[in-house]
Amino acid sequence: MAAQIEVKVPDIGGYDDVPVIELLVAVGDRVEKDQGLMTLESDKATMEVPSSAAGIVRELRVKVGDKVSEGSVIAVLKAEGEGAAPAAPQAAAPATSQGEAKGYGDTKQASPAASTASAPAATSPTPAASSGRKADVECRMLVLGAGPGGYTAAFRAADLGLDTVLVERYASLGGVCLNVGCIPSKALLHAAAVIDEAQHAKDYGISFGQPAIELDALRTYKEKVVGQLTKGLAGMAKQRKVRVVQGTGRFVSPNEVEVQGEGGTQLIRFEQCIIAAGSQAVKLPNFPWDDKRVMDSTDALDLADIPKSLLVVGGGIIGLEMATVYRALGAQVTVVELGAQLMPGADTDLVKPLADRLKKQGVTVHLNVKASGVKASKAGIEVTFEGEGAPQPTSFDRVLVAVGRSPNGAKIGAEAAGVQVGDRGFIPVDRQMRTNVPHIFAIGDIVGNPMLAHKATHEGKLAAEVAAGEKREWVARVIPSVAYTDPEIAWVGVTEAEAKAKGLKVGVGKFPWAASGRAIGLGRTEGFTKLIFDEVTHRVIGGGIVGVHAGDLIAEVALAIEMGCEVADIGMTIHPHPTLSESVGMAAEVFEGTITDLYIPKKK
Ligand SMILES: Cc1cc2nc3c(=O)[nH]c(=O)nc-3n(C[C@H](O)[C@H](O)[C@H](O)COP(=O)(O)OP(=O)(O)OC[C@H]3O[C@@H](n4cnc5c(N)ncnc54)[C@H](O)[C@@H]3O)c2cc1C
Repeated sequence: MAAQIEVKVPDIGGYDDVPVIELLVAVGDRVEKDQGLMTLESDKATMEVPSSAAGIVRELRVKVGDKVSEGSVIAVLKAEGEGAAPAAPQAAAPATSQGEAKGYGDTKQASPAASTASAPAATSPTPAASSGRKADVECRMLVLGAGPGGYTAAFRAADLGLDTVLVERYASLGGVCLNVGCIPSKALLHAAAVIDEAQHAKDYGISFGQPAIELDALRTYKEKVVGQLTKGLAGMAKQRKVRVVQGTGRFVSPNEVEVQGEGGTQLIRFEQCIIAAGSQAVKLPNFPWDDKRVMDSTDALDLADIPKSLLVVGGGIIGLEMATVYRALGAQVTVVELGAQLMPGADTDLVKPLADRLKKQGVTVHLNVKASGVKASKAGIEVTFEGEGAPQPTSFDRVLVAVGRSPNGAKIGAEAAGVQVGDRGFIPVDRQMRTNVPHIFAIGDIVGNPMLAHKATHEGKLAAEVAAGEKREWVARVIPSVAYTDPEIAWVGVTEAEAKAKGLKVGVGKFPWAASGRAIGLGRTEGFTKLIFDEVTHRVIGGGIVGVHAGDLIAEVALAIEMGCEVADIGMTIHPHPTLSESVGMAAEVFEGTITDLYIPKKK
């Protein structure tokens, strides 16, 4: 039987009866030696109690609010031997059925590196022997994939003095995010917002007339935005002396990758490697993918034309962002979502202003509905639907399938390196982004949800720093999510629904933008800002914002959570007036009962 280890509070500077303000792990989690288990806070300092050993958390002997002193037993671990598999990421399955918003559309907040899932004891594949061939390129660090995770990792590794090679199959660096994801979609969303704003200007006496849309020019604008960024990356790679090798890489052994490029095959031998090979759009089976009118997000961003009618399958972030673009450009848009609400995972109240606006704009939304049969005909793409209140079979000019993304873990020959890949293609990593093979790391979409560029870049830096010998691990508490729809929806940390499901005792401060001078001036009062506080500690543990620029505003809430801010810290921070950012301070004031910009009758 595995040994049980009692973890005790170490010397905490002579303080006694210090309250536990946060538990950082749960029963069943696998923890590393020195990983923080819980946060204590005295009147002088906040400190994390590290684990004295690696193992699985069997028991937590304290809860939030308990008081501990040096020597108090706080947890019991099941000891783990060396070489145990790293914790499986808290990765949900890649979507295999429509409407499951995964990938960029996934709304989970947890980091795979900060996984709370216990690790299944997966078996490691037997690594292949070294090829014995002379290497064409040798390096200290090889990064596989040049998306936001990969280029960040490569640049950081080079800055830390590691001789680095970056392998990318496409000519352009930047991965999905820069080429066919975050950046081009936001360029088009900007155009959509201008069209809508021009229309809205009628309300304050300025008329622009109907927009004339030159699709070629719009496409050129989008490509220019992308090009500026990707060329910038190529320049920075050069400046840092990162050697870029173009071609598709596959492991042939634990220290070798073979790269198949236009000019033939090259063997690269490395000492350490960071896998950053990302993900790809899920293609639902039974859709006629050989017909150009059936699109994934990459095709939709190409803007081949503006269809008269567009069906968007999947009401997650990507689907709704593209629906926003095509609707503004003049398409009649229908959205079908398998789940009971748009943007599954976000709190229902945050989604409502967007759903209301889409309805007003003539976008038809069907919830709990599945596109069950899809057939291409000369006249259009004929779609039949299933589910309560499903519409009649309809013909659409184009169909966009946006039901999530699946990781590329099974496509890189990882087994030859002895790297474990889960059934769904995710690569399990520990809190230092290490795979089960100690000199090989993995980051970004390939290690788990949420599939977001800012998670990938954060992990990229972390992996490079650990590889370079720095003592680092995943410590971020939250990862914000943003849908750049109109209005934008942004949230971070614990949602209200999650708090309810977990039985957390929380209080909510909600400030309606109808009382914001700035929002009234913009004519966009449908939004609100809400903060979610731990009822015992009054620390902010979550927040959600819906309204214009919500994506920019959520960063303050993320920082507040990272800093362990209490309600007064936020309420007493002076926010500039008149700005939408004031709504964050005011949401804190609503919770505290000190708000003066609203009248809330006192409870008797
Ligand atoms: C339409 C859309 C909009 C999005 N908008 C946002 C947004 O606004 N904000 C946000 O945070 N996220 C957004 N995302 C998600 C974001 O793009 C991803 O989370 C992010 O790109 C993941 O980065 P990555 O480095 O892990 O992988 P990727 O960006 O997928 O990069 C992986 C790279 O590896 C390369 N590669 C793969 N296999 C090999 C191989 N065998 N050999 C060589 N190279 C290989 C690929 O060509 C690719 O360049 C969006 C995604 C889409 C599709």
